[in-house]
Amino acid sequence: MGQVSKNSRTAAATQKFMCSCGGEIKMKTLFEGGKVKNIAECGKCKRTERRPSDFK
Ligand SMILES: [Zn+2]
Repeated sequence: MGQVSKNSRTAAATQKFMCSCGGEIKMKTLFEGGKVKNIAECGKCKRTERRPSDFK
């Protein structure tokens, strides 16, 4: 006892992604065709991708 699990904090979804231009990727929610759509947009060059991980 007395051992704290370090895995308990890794669930926080605060992962940051960076664009190739050096800007920060931010998630946006769009309404398209009556559906909610999440996209990732670079705050600097305004490039958009489906997923933050596509900015490579
Ligand atoms: Zn960018």
